[in-house]
Amino acid sequence: MTDRDARRAELTAYHESEVAGCVRCPLSAGRTQVVVGNGDPDADLMFVGEAPGYHEDKNGLPFVGQAGQLLNRLLGDIGLTRDDVFVANVLKCRPPGNRDPQPAEIEACERHLFRQISLIRPRVVCTLGNFATRLLSGRPARISQVHGHELPIQIADRTVLLYPLFHPAAALYTRSMLGTLEADFARIPALLAGGEPPAPAPLAPHPDPDPEPLEARLPVPVAAGEPVQLGLF
Ligand code: URA
Repeated sequence: MTDRDARRAELTAYHESEVAGCVRCPLSAGRTQVVVGNGDPDADLMFVGEAPGYHEDKNGLPFVGQAGQLLNRLLGDIGLTRDDVFVANVLKCRPPGNRDPQPAEIEACERHLFRQISLIRPRVVCTLGNFATRLLSGRPARISQVHGHELPIQIADRTVLLYPLFHPAAALYTRSMLGTLEADFARIPALLAGGEPPAPAPLAPHPDPDPEPLEARLPVPVAAGEPVQLGLF
């Protein structure tokens, strides 16, 4: 068995044994099913959203509603389809009424996402919106300030390029945000090719005026340009 086949098999086994029946947080009680994620388990490009919504909870697949339609269109604009990428969320179960993920839910669920990233081994991870960006950057970033600025992060034994983007659901309702999302998306092929010069400004630590519980447990920011070391696995 090749290393690639072994990682695929391990991902499937992990999904089946640890994620599909997960009861690590109270969201398990209200879900129709766990939305593990889908796409190419060997993808170079991965997208991480926030949490399943109504349609995702019913279908068992991520980004199948309106935001998903936009994601599909944006992928098409850069010559890709959902089969070329892997799509997952910070939370694998739908929060009631689509409310924001709670810090305890993120803490309970993050191990699944980190394991997925370490087995899929993408080169670029696009975080969609604040929650995914904060979790994977380890910084209390605001997506409005850091979108489009790539940042190398360390996950398990590998360096991955984090590329924060506006969440497509937000862009559905704000035309200027859609234009920005399209422009940020247009850089993805160059980031995947590895040939693009560094972004104008690194993802900078940003003092957040609204104290949020999530910040309290985030790692201390490292110097710009240094991979963020997350203590995983
Ligand atoms: N929004 C998300 O963040 N994830 C989904 O899967 C769907 C909508």
